[in-house]
Amino acid sequence: MNEINLLLNKSSHTKDDLIKLLSCSPGTETELILQKALEVKANTVGRKVYLRGLIELSNVCSNNCYYCGIRAANKSVERYTLTDEEVMHCAIFAWRQGFGSLVIQTGEQRGPRFTAYIERLLRKIHEQTNHELSITLSCGEQSLEVYKRWRSAGAHRYLFRIETTNKELYYKIHPHNRRHSFENRLQALRYLREAGYQVGTGVMIGLPGQSLSDLADDLMFFRSIDIDMVGMGPYIEHEETPLFAYAHQLWPVEERFRMGLLMIALLRITMPYINIAASTALETLDIYGRQKGILAGANVVMPNLTPVQNRKQYQLYHNKPNLDKDATLSTVSLSVIIKEIGETICLFKPGDSLHFLNRTQRDPIQQ
Ligand code: SAM
Repeated sequence: MNEINLLLNKSSHTKDDLIKLLSCSPGTETELILQKALEVKANTVGRKVYLRGLIELSNVCSNNCYYCGIRAANKSVERYTLTDEEVMHCAIFAWRQGFGSLVIQTGEQRGPRFTAYIERLLRKIHEQTNHELSITLSCGEQSLEVYKRWRSAGAHRYLFRIETTNKELYYKIHPHNRRHSFENRLQALRYLREAGYQVGTGVMIGLPGQSLSDLADDLMFFRSIDIDMVGMGPYIEHEETPLFAYAHQLWPVEERFRMGLLMIALLRITMPYINIAASTALETLDIYGRQKGILAGANVVMPNLTPVQNRKQYQLYHNKPNLDKDATLSTVSLSVIIKEIGETICLFKPGDSLHFLNRTQRDPIQQ
């Protein structure tokens, strides 16, 4: 316990420190770390939560990640792409509810038609919501030119998970080819920075074969690339994927969940001013997952606005929650639970990453 306290009070942490902290036992030691993270959150970004309305725009995907339910080879998935009208309906709903911001996510798609489709949607959303929404894209690996075009059309932030920073593990969970190249993924993160986005990345926690040393490396990586926002969460198996064959090697659900919280907490402690999302995967493993994620240091939640009839076709993993709740219902329940845990929901605010604002003041060219 004393060692945990000593480590928590250090002003910066080495990889070894992080491994020791990640090795803490469940119960009091874990609680100490979570409490410290909440204290850091209160003193830096504040006890505030920003809402990002999530639109799962299309499940069409040309990649074959071994863990993902919407991978191209999964023929049992019915593919969909929302119409402009459906997207506008979600965007206007978010705007009227005061969400301040949207996340648009798709499977991996590339090419001039897709580029133009996203560009058109971005412009349309801004026109019809009085330019009052911030937009985060999560539309995968693209060229620098495409990232720049979407940035000019009004995308502010981009979320692109590295998935794991252990290259060997990366190639155990992805095919080893150009479409799934680890180097290209790193390059894409650099392109996003160059194109002027608030850049987000993240990893899956509790992958088969992943060690505490890997997770400590992930935390060190976020710091080394000076990331602005992170969305990370537990890996959850899906029967119709190749990685399911390794389900017997997984940490138990409670352990994956605890590691998910610890990763958020340690990230808040090591990068106090970034935005951190409480992922849907946390909520899948524990009904109070979102609240617990916020109390561990997260300050962003992403209520799902995807039309109810499409949600079951965007099943990245099994038991994804809120498949049948419409957006109004899930927003109401979210507001209640966030207030209950003593946090304030910030409506009508973009909720920019303070880390991003600080770094762009240091380096004004980035703005
Ligand atoms: N195509 C985009 C990309 O790759 O960045 C965004 C869509 S992708 C489906 C969004 C995220 O879902 C991935 O980055 C991955 O971390 C997560 N994901 C996919 N399958 C998962 C699983 N079985 N468990 C947990 N997270 C998963």
